[in-house]
Amino acid sequence: MEKKRLTIIVLGHVDHGKSTLVGRLLVEKGQVHPGEIARYAALGAEMGKESFKYAWVMDRTDESRRRGLTLDLNFADLRTRRSDIHIIDAPGHRDFLRSMITGTTGADAALLVVDAQEGVMPQTREHARLARLMGLDRVVVAINKIDKVGFSPGAIGNAASELKAMLEEAGFAQMDLIPVSAWEGANLTQRGGRMDWYRGRTLEEALDGVEPRGAPAGGSFRMPVMQVLQIGGVGTVVLGRIERGEVKEGDEVFAVPAGKAGVARSIEAYGKAVHAASAGDTVGIGLRNLGLQEVSRGDVLGPTDDPPRIAEEFLAKIVLFADCGVVRPGWSAYIHCHTAAVPVRLEAIQMKYRPDSGEAATDSECGFLADGDAALVRFKPQKPLIIESSDRLPGMARFALRAGRETVGAGSCVSVKPLERQALQKDESGLSFSYKHRKTGLGAKELKERKDREARDIWGKPVKK
Ligand code: GDP
Repeated sequence: MEKKRLTIIVLGHVDHGKSTLVGRLLVEKGQVHPGEIARYAALGAEMGKESFKYAWVMDRTDESRRRGLTLDLNFADLRTRRSDIHIIDAPGHRDFLRSMITGTTGADAALLVVDAQEGVMPQTREHARLARLMGLDRVVVAINKIDKVGFSPGAIGNAASELKAMLEEAGFAQMDLIPVSAWEGANLTQRGGRMDWYRGRTLEEALDGVEPRGAPAGGSFRMPVMQVLQIGGVGTVVLGRIERGEVKEGDEVFAVPAGKAGVARSIEAYGKAVHAASAGDTVGIGLRNLGLQEVSRGDVLGPTDDPPRIAEEFLAKIVLFADCGVVRPGWSAYIHCHTAAVPVRLEAIQMKYRPDSGEAATDSECGFLADGDAALVRFKPQKPLIIESSDRLPGMARFALRAGRETVGAGSCVSVKPLERQALQKDESGLSFSYKHRKTGLGAKELKERKDREARDIWGKPVKK
């Protein structure tokens, strides 16, 4: 049986045992040698931090070790019975949020680690909300440190009810609540021991139950362009991950906003030539009729009869998590969505959620946003951008917001108002199309020039391409 490929991001309040849990899982599945743990234990004993011997499998930097904190994103590959799981362990302190977007955008599910004794803490709630906001709908909860509550079914039950209520409130419909002790290795990959009352799944079984988010069934081919190469004997080759649909040799594909069509003369996936490739595959497509200069990173490929559409405006749920001052309509930032990075302007704040309770704020509080706020907002791209709503194509809906050199927020697109455009037309140079801006009636080229001009003004200096 072919194994599922999953990506799982580990979330949870600091010190609730995320790194320890992943470290111990890796040891139990034979991916980390117990000798390595013994070495960390000896090292830890010298520093009076022996309890971090498992966590150090994930926290490799000396700085992390000294402070006893996970500092940056860590990765591990865990092979379970039925899946190959790419695990992303993110830092549990304040800076976590910044690195978390990168992790969450590509994840199939979250593994939320919660200390059974402490229960739901502010970060537990914050991470759950943010993960949901970023489009994750599946969460596996490890109710950890049950050795500290004497493996008691009563205490674990209380923690489970509290968590269930919190996750439902955050908007999760699907969840698994699995009691474990990362330190003692209880119920991670094996049941029994002091938990013989427990009839549910082990953590490994719950993780194996996660389905890859995959691409929504149906819908036309979409591939955001990651890179464009010129390869001798092949010509222009476009690299990217297919987000939806399928492409076959000989298919005509259209690049937007480039507005140019080409023919897929060859397809290569994972080092092999293939006749067709589909959603989830990372491929190189050799294109006839399309030059190196005519398509670029951030463009999206689609079929000519249903090409990707440029957004005139879009609604999105966002959360701001860095100090970006007071944000009001008119505020500009760079949006990083699939492979595109485009300046956007905040047009309106439609709804604001109170950071503590998640409830909608009153109208009078809706005039501005600040660090920690979550909101439903309307953005206008300042350059052609292809973005999709999360119900249609989650992989092309999630984004990060950057201002200056900092990631200041993240979000997910809820709905798109496409730019009105002209139908495809044949001209001498082959198939191409142009679109017209509804209000200005400008053609594609003029529009691009105007947008470039406008974009220059955002930071008061030219926009680097
Ligand atoms: P993180 O900040 O969430 O990654 O937490 P760590 O993995 O660094 O763990 C924080 C502390 O909790 C360490 O001292 C661990 O040894 C301890 N810890 C983790 N899991 C367990 C557990 O199942 N039982 C007990 N008693 N302690 C644990």
